[in-house]
This record gives sequence, C-alpha cells and structure tokens, in this order.
Amino acid sequence: MKPIGISIFEIQFKPKRIQNLTPGTIMSRANDPQLKSWIEVKPGSDFPIQNLPFGVFKTAEKTPRAGVAIGEYILDLSAIAQAGLLDGISFNKKVLSQKTLNDFIALGKPVTNAVRERLSDLLDMQNNELQDMPELKKQALVKQSEVQMLLPVHIPNYTDFYSSREHATNVGTMFRDPKNALLPNWLHLPVGYHGRASSIVISGTPIHRPKGQTKADDAVAPSFGPSKSLDFELEIAFVVSKETELGSSVSTAQAEDHIFGLVLFNDWSARDLQKWEYVPLGPFLAKNFGSISSPWIVTLEALEPFKVETPKQESAVLPYLQFEGPKNYDIHLTVDIVTATGASKTVSNSNYKYMYWNMCQQLAHHTVNGCNIQVGDMYASGTISGPTPDSYGSMLEISWQGKNPVAMPDGTERRFILDNDTVVIKGYCEKNGVRIGFGECSGKILPALP
Ligand code: MN
Repeated sequence: MKPIGISIFEIQFKPKRIQNLTPGTIMSRANDPQLKSWIEVKPGSDFPIQNLPFGVFKTAEKTPRAGVAIGEYILDLSAIAQAGLLDGISFNKKVLSQKTLNDFIALGKPVTNAVRERLSDLLDMQNNELQDMPELKKQALVKQSEVQMLLPVHIPNYTDFYSSREHATNVGTMFRDPKNALLPNWLHLPVGYHGRASSIVISGTPIHRPKGQTKADDAVAPSFGPSKSLDFELEIAFVVSKETELGSSVSTAQAEDHIFGLVLFNDWSARDLQKWEYVPLGPFLAKNFGSISSPWIVTLEALEPFKVETPKQESAVLPYLQFEGPKNYDIHLTVDIVTATGASKTVSNSNYKYMYWNMCQQLAHHTVNGCNIQVGDMYASGTISGPTPDSYGSMLEISWQGKNPVAMPDGTERRFILDNDTVVIKGYCEKNGVRIGFGECSGKILPALP
C-alpha cells in the first residue's frame, strides 16, 4: 500500500512525528491519537484535530469559502491563506475562496494532504503560530452555529449503487422470492444506476412530498397523487477528486487516489412510485425529487485508521474487481426520526463495514467500460443495512413493507415518513480514543405542493 501523508508539506517541513500505528500502514502525523488542539474539543465531538473535514460555508459578512471543522468552530481557510500561513504549499490560494471545493480537491492528494497536515500543525497545542495571532484568530475562527453550510462540491454526476447484501436480500425477499432474493448478477458485479445530480441538496434543506403515478395491486389503472410510502435510504457517498478521460478505466488499486472523501447521504425514495415505474429500466421519479448530503467531506486520510476487512465475497469475482487489503470502513451509523412535535426515535443502528461491494470495486466497475468520471461526482453506496432488524437502513425494511409499524414516543406510529417528519443521519468512527465524525445529514419532509 502506498504510504499516505508523504506530501509536499512533509518534504518541506519535516514534521517530528510520523507514527506507524497499524502494521503495514504508515499514518500521517495528522492522525496521531496523541495530538490535541488549542481549540476546545468536547468529549463526543465529531471534529477533533485528527478529523479536519472540509466544507464550504458563508455568513452575513463572508462570501462562500472553504473551511475545516474543529470542535464547535470552523477554521476559515481563505483567511488563513490570505495571512500567508499556507505559503509553504505551492497552489493558487483562490481555490479556497470559492463556493465549491471542486478546484481545491482537483489539485490532487499531494496538495490537499499537505494542506491537511499544515492545518493540523496550526491547530496543534504545541504550535504557537496561529495561537499567538489574536486578530487573525478572531477573523478565522467562526462558530459552526453561526454559519450557513453549502453543498461542498458542484456535482456533475451522481450514481447510486445497491451494494449492501442485507438490503438487496431484504428487498428481494419482500418483492420477489425469499428463496432467490438476490438476482443472478448480484454476487458478480456492484449493481447501480445513474441518478440525478441536480436535486442533491445540502443537509437541512426541506423537500416536498413528491407526487406521481402509483398503482395498487388490485387497481385496474394507475392513479396520480402524493406518495403514500415515502422513505429514507441510509447511505454514504464518496466524492471524486481526480477525473479520467473518456475511454480510460480506474483499477481497484488506483481507486483511492481518485476519491477525496465521504459524506453521509439520504437518498429519499417514494416506494409506491418506485414499485410501479421501475420495470424494466430501474429507478426514475421515485428517486430524483431530492437527496441530501451532509456538509463536511471527511477525507479518506482521516478515515485511514478505521479501515476494516470487507465481508468475504463468496463468488470468485472477475479479475478487474479483485483487490488487496482492507477496503471497508468501520463507520457507526444511526437514523433518527423527529416528529413535528419534537418526539424523536432512533430507528436504525447500522455500519458502513457491512457493505459487500467496496468503493474501490464500485469505481473500478463504473469505469471498466471506459466511462469517464469528473471532479465532484458523488457515488452513493446504496442503502446500508446490517444483519438484524434494528440495523436496517430504510423504513421499507424496518417496518417490513408497513407490516411492523414503529411506535414513536408521542404515541404515533411510522410505517413510512409522514409530513413534517425530519430524518437525521449521523455517523462516526471511534478507536484509540479518537472519534472521527461526519456531523449530520438532516432533512424534513413538507406536505406535497398543491
Ligand atoms: Mn439509494
């Protein structure tokens, strides 16, 4: 495996500590569990100094710009760059003052990793550079509660996979045949479809209940109206930072070099529309009315210590899908439903480590035919369900098509999502006392428009 963290910054600045935390993997200094920031990071925070996820924010005074989350604050990268604190890394600093991260992440890992290392250094308790600049600190540290987060990237293309074996088995069991729940192709390739990029919105953006055609099993003709079985899908998406030419392919070994990081993702789904429309070409209006991304892109480098082996793939996969080493990530995931009255219940406890097909295989498969990828593309995992009912990643599975309603603390029941419900996805990794979190991916369903 290629060591991470061998960056321009390290070559120029030679940091004192590079630790070998996991056999065979050289971790960068920014991952050191001993690091502490001079900015307070409360226990249970998603954003310790070892994380430093990238996002885009704006305030009443500030135009959109790049930042990293640290504790309850955001470090304004535009301000830090203007003050000359990133001068040791050679790149056009204007990329940090834009409304998306596309141009920044397109600079590639040597630059983005060097920036992450440098920011880690500036926020390190043992480094006085920024600590001793009170005016700049006042300008460059902004409370997360006082900003508006924006979609972190412009998304040229969006693809949704179907890579959780448990999810595919549950859906196949419900809709087809429990004995042949997985279709014949499923164990041989990561099934996916091309989704809609234009309707991906940032966490906190409400979506109106979609309207469309549905047909009850006993009805002779379809009818039109608001979806009666609106669902969430608990997913994680990866963001591409290195484009390819049309005609070229990305191997499983190269894939991580093309991926900047991960976000939490809610792929809102209208099950009744889906059931009627999906034959024979797959999802369409049941999926493209809105999907939610969390605001912070957690880098693959920050997630490196949390890599785990993938579930054993029982069918021998074709050579282009074979891979070496751990490719999954141990990311705890929860889904909460919050009602209009504020009653809240955790309806799912899942984990990204359950994914049968990993993101390197997904990208290799996606490009094996020569399909080109673009900077900012999002590739979602598909619903992430675990082996037990409390770990299922959609209401379709949790309520088993509505047969087992979920009791809410306010006495109401949920088979699917009701108007004015908010669905909140959270995720984090934890090991050696370090918690790398994703923040929130939250979205409210408003009543259908007239
Ligand atoms: Mn999906």
